[in-house]
Amino acid sequence: MSTLDQIAAKLAGYNPQAMSADQVTAFLAQLVQPVTEVQQLGLFQALGRMLAADIISPISVPPHNNSAMDGYAFESSQLKPGQGLQLTIVGTVLAGQTWSGRIQSGECLHIMTGAMMPPGLDTVVPQELVTRTATHISLPPDTLRPGDNCRLKGEDLQQGQPALHKGELLTPAALGLVASLGIQTVPVWRPLKVATFSTGNEIMSLGEPPRPGAVYDSNRYTLFGLLTRLGCEVIDLGVVRDEPAALQAAFEQAASQADAIITSGGVSVGEADHTKQIMNQLGEVAFWRVAMRPGRPLAVGRLFKDKLASSPFIERTDSSGNESKSTLLFGLPGNPVAAMVSFLAFVRPALLRLMGNQADAPPLLQARSTEKLPKKPGRTEYQRGIVSTAADGSLQVKTTGNQGSGVLSSMARANGLIVLAHDQGTVQAGELVNVMMFDGVI
Ligand code: AMP
Ligand code: MG
Repeated sequence: MSTLDQIAAKLAGYNPQAMSADQVTAFLAQLVQPVTEVQQLGLFQALGRMLAADIISPISVPPHNNSAMDGYAFESSQLKPGQGLQLTIVGTVLAGQTWSGRIQSGECLHIMTGAMMPPGLDTVVPQELVTRTATHISLPPDTLRPGDNCRLKGEDLQQGQPALHKGELLTPAALGLVASLGIQTVPVWRPLKVATFSTGNEIMSLGEPPRPGAVYDSNRYTLFGLLTRLGCEVIDLGVVRDEPAALQAAFEQAASQADAIITSGGVSVGEADHTKQIMNQLGEVAFWRVAMRPGRPLAVGRLFKDKLASSPFIERTDSSGNESKSTLLFGLPGNPVAAMVSFLAFVRPALLRLMGNQADAPPLLQARSTEKLPKKPGRTEYQRGIVSTAADGSLQVKTTGNQGSGVLSSMARANGLIVLAHDQGTVQAGELVNVMMFDGVI
């Protein structure tokens, strides 16, 4: 039994002709293991990568109690309910300075935002709340509670505790957080190389003169965009003719150079082309019909480098000197919207996993459907939607109209996908639906 069959056999009710989207996701979670090579990168290089180890805070942040406002620092036991307070100003401390003098009861220190709180002082009154003379301030009664406007040492991060976890995405905020710890480099997994090509004799490359019955290749461009947004290096292998030798050469070149291959077209049932045959020859690949719309045909598996013929394309080691034995393979449906939806539903989460990401998938939004959405239970549907804010401030979503799986213009107009679950039936106007927003994803 191949590994693929072993994993598939564990899926309850496995039927390659009727896979649910959830079964595909569960299968991929088993199949895909993160890359192993780690790089140590400076923070300006690490955006979008996944952390390969926990970041343990070497210091507490903030490193000292400090003022959150420009104002006057004092000791809070002097605050009495219903009573004002008059204090003598004994000095000024700016951010970056330390105050070494003693401060007695009845005294306060003029303090700026970020300046270190002297020992014994725990509260800051903002300067706009006091009346001030040259030497004194007066606070009105009941303006403050003890501890107000004082940031405590370690309230952001405690020394010795994990500040970020292995598998987390390095976002702009995460980069800043690492920098706040004084850490200059972080361990991250190496980036992925992903090869793409389009198949089909009816597919023209850009620049070719139009010919009857042919359409321009759009999938390679969509995939390029999706992969680049994910931080992958894209190896573009063009449009490949539906001929065994050309397909074999393309698969071999892709498998020898890339961590994953994404093709489009040629995986549907009854296709006269050679894609499936070559995929099977070079590796182990499952050909499924997924209960989803748009989508349906999907090939998933891997190509083995030791099965590749000794073709001139094969370089046995990649640029990092490491060789993985297999290359993940996704054969997406050719229809442009189906290819994109299949990518978002299955390929993107799988690549994130391959990149070392261990975070949960981002939550779906809930928005009110402005229209009735007819649907049969028994398949997952992804409808192109436009989410907007309704007059009452809540989120609403309408579809882009024609949901044909080739209508890429409606995908370009949409700002998200309405995800109707496998068992869900028709949605009435006004009901809440789940939406996968494109922002941050594509
Ligand atoms: P297939 O999955 O090969 O049966 O293709 C389904 C439909 O998608 C056909 O109408 C193809 O012409 C179209 N198609 C396939 N590949 C592409 C591509 N790369 N760009 C645009 N349309 C495509
Ligand atoms: Mg085809």
